[in-house]
Amino acid sequence: FPVENVRNFGIIAHVDHGKSTLADRLLELTGTIAKTDHNKQVLDKLQVERERGITVKAQTASLFYNYGGKLYLLNLIDTPGHVDFNYEVSRSLSACQGVLLVVDANEGIQAQTVANFFLAFEAQLSIIPVINKIDLKNADPERVEKQIEKMFDIPSDECIKISAKLGTNIERVLQAVIERIAPPKVSRENPLKALVFDSTFDQYRGVIANVALFDGVVSKGDKIVSAYTQKTYEVNEVGILSPDEQRTQKLYAGQVGYLIAGMKDVTEAQIGDTLYLHKQPVEPLPGFKSAKPMVFAGMYPIDQSEYNNLKSAIEKLTLNDSSVTVHRDSSLALGAGWRLGFLGLLHMEVFNQRLEQEYNASVILTTPTVPYKAVLSSAKLIKARRAVQKNMVFIDQNRVMLKYLFPLNEIVVDFYDSLKSLSSGYASFDYEDAGYQTADLVKMDILLNGNPVEELVTIVHKEKAHPIGKSICERLKDTIPRQLFEIAIQAAIGSKIIARETVKAYRKNVLAKCYGGDITRKMKLLKRQAEGKKRMRKVGNIEVPKDAFIRVLKRQ
Ligand code: GDP
Ligand code: MG
Repeated sequence: FPVENVRNFGIIAHVDHGKSTLADRLLELTGTIAKTDHNKQVLDKLQVERERGITVKAQTASLFYNYGGKLYLLNLIDTPGHVDFNYEVSRSLSACQGVLLVVDANEGIQAQTVANFFLAFEAQLSIIPVINKIDLKNADPERVEKQIEKMFDIPSDECIKISAKLGTNIERVLQAVIERIAPPKVSRENPLKALVFDSTFDQYRGVIANVALFDGVVSKGDKIVSAYTQKTYEVNEVGILSPDEQRTQKLYAGQVGYLIAGMKDVTEAQIGDTLYLHKQPVEPLPGFKSAKPMVFAGMYPIDQSEYNNLKSAIEKLTLNDSSVTVHRDSSLALGAGWRLGFLGLLHMEVFNQRLEQEYNASVILTTPTVPYKAVLSSAKLIKARRAVQKNMVFIDQNRVMLKYLFPLNEIVVDFYDSLKSLSSGYASFDYEDAGYQTADLVKMDILLNGNPVEELVTIVHKEKAHPIGKSICERLKDTIPRQLFEIAIQAAIGSKIIARETVKAYRKNVLAKCYGGDITRKMKLLKRQAEGKKRMRKVGNIEVPKDAFIRVLKRQ
């Protein structure tokens, strides 16, 4: 296949603007999949993607298309839209020379349209603007054209107006891909240089690496070396994705496909790695910046006997999603577990859901926190404002883009939902890391009769300490059973108590309901009470049921 007839392109868009639907139409039009009424987001293969209607993993499909008497190979790389998965987007773009930037004709430019545009622009890709959903009653493609010209400096006449749903103008999109995107700059004569841009794990076949070939050829039986680990492997299978795996004899420079080479261990398949032929080393490709986790949470098996199963499930899933960081952790209340870092809250929920659905694991996930850097100096005393406006750009008369500096922990939990409901769904939101800032944060302890409970120490903003402390005390009061003595539940900052609840003294007399002499019944009840105690943790002389910790630590 001549390289000048190859195009590698991605689709980028704000969530719900129609990437996956456009991908379905492109697959149908090129005969990659049969045209039926059931093709809905064909590239969204994961169960979590289908249930939530969002794309999480980038998927790849090779399309063949006849144009002007020539056959072209178009490699389409679908990308996720949500902010949490920007990392996936920039990774997939490294295998592309151009993108389709899809914008909803009704909603116009949104936060992730802007963020994704810049990812593509910085990667120096050709950008083809596609205005989708022109069939909608309120569609205003001319307004969106003007927004695109103003924000991105792309002339209006370059916009292609389509309806992905009805299949209007899809041919134009394919033609633009061929006309406006350059073929990859590669050489088949040079020795093999392949970029691993994604990888998945298959229980039976091991690691399946998605590769983009920059130079050379690879076929079954070749000996290849990983530039990252310097390990040598024999290639078992190569093929293209269309969108299911389709075995081929060889993969050539300019192609995108998959490769299986007996990599078994999760650490062997580094995303961003360069593969080359044994004894023909090449200069490795620049690779990727590693993803930076923004949100951390503890993860524990519900039952400790499930620890090993959960461990292997987490390992396999992190191979498939290398942006998650994992550190071992343990808690007196919850046992052995891990501290996981995620790119955002949705990312965390999706990871949890994938563990449950794809690996049948049930876990306790603790309230997410964000990273802090503690500096022990008087600079902490400086009052920092919680949000600072940085920038304001009018996209058009009705829409404005505002840039603010926010503390991450203010936006981690429910900021996005509140913003959506305040603006009746009109506002959209995207974020990037702005570095650490000083802030007025305090360490809050939870005390039971004066004894600090180590699992429940949190870092909170000074102004929020009171309501948070109060709510933790109330939740504990509801779950700690009455005991022989009174229990004071307190939230404290240093030596200052900021909230208190009391559990009154009382002994739950399990024998009260046993009249007279049924000794075996009495024994059974006492035994049950003793077993209950095993699920308790002692703080001072107070028995605290594990459920109490779980209720406080767990996300609501
Ligand atoms: P993605 O999040 O960008 O992948 O968006 P999807 O392809 O999942 O589409 C989001 C929603 O918009 C779905 O309900 C689609 O059926 C709908 N949609 C996509 N394209 C069109 C279109 O051209 N017209 C209309 N009316 N709806 C569309
Ligand atoms: Mg999608």
